[in-house]
Amino acid sequence: MTSSRPHRIRILGLPLDDVTLAEAVILVKSWCAVADTLQQIVTLNPEMVMAARRNTAFRAVIEGAALVTADGVGLIAAARLRGTPLRGRVTGVDLVEALATAGLRLFLLGAAPGVAERAACVLEQRFGATVVGTWAGSPRPEDASHALARIAAARPQVLCVAYGAPAQDLWIARYQNELTRAGVRVALGVGGTFDYLAGVVPRPPEVIRRLGLEWLYRLIRQPWRWRRQLVLPYFAALASLEAIRARLGPVT
Ligand code: UDP
Repeated sequence: MTSSRPHRIRILGLPLDDVTLAEAVILVKSWCAVADTLQQIVTLNPEMVMAARRNTAFRAVIEGAALVTADGVGLIAAARLRGTPLRGRVTGVDLVEALATAGLRLFLLGAAPGVAERAACVLEQRFGATVVGTWAGSPRPEDASHALARIAAARPQVLCVAYGAPAQDLWIARYQNELTRAGVRVALGVGGTFDYLAGVVPRPPEVIRRLGLEWLYRLIRQPWRWRRQLVLPYFAALASLEAIRARLGPVT
């Protein structure tokens, strides 16, 4: 397997890479071997696609990311409908677990106080990870210098940021120069990954994930999400329309 860039497709105007979990890990390892550049990874889901349609700064960050993975069955379905199926789904939690086994130095930033520490323990015990630092912090600009100082002191290769989308992805892009100087080579937004790892929020069982019902499971467990999930039917309608147009071809 090579570390060449994966094939990139587009869903509702946003980039999405056809990458498997194993290939993503190989890419991250290859980027960690290169000095002085920071590569950003976005784990994209339909809620984020809809947010990016209204938020130009967020759209620019996704557009500029070195790797955009499909985190969410909605994107897998949209890609298949469009006639450009993806070979794999790469969620934030799967990627963090896989990177934990890859022998890279990780820093966990974000989530509620104490959660990143517990997630780090799980990654170390279960996956043999090397976690060089954790910090809850916050996405507020006034808290950035403290977080950046901790990261610089820990010298991680990979920074996992759990501030929720789009805050986490915008934070990485905003501080990319400081992070590069701190030795970070790969930074990724990971959403609720630390909550899952720490057991604060239960992860949907495999069968629910396979059936594509993760959204329903999350809605039942975290009912406050209903407002955020209102965009999902809209995403499905827009993605279906786009797929029909793509299959019909250009109107002459
Ligand atoms: N979070 C945070 N600071 C904030 C907002 C969110 O640390 O100001 C954390 C929150 O505790 C959670 C994560 O960001 O651990 C976002 O989780 P969510 O499930 O909303 O993310 P998703 O996976 O839906 O993007």
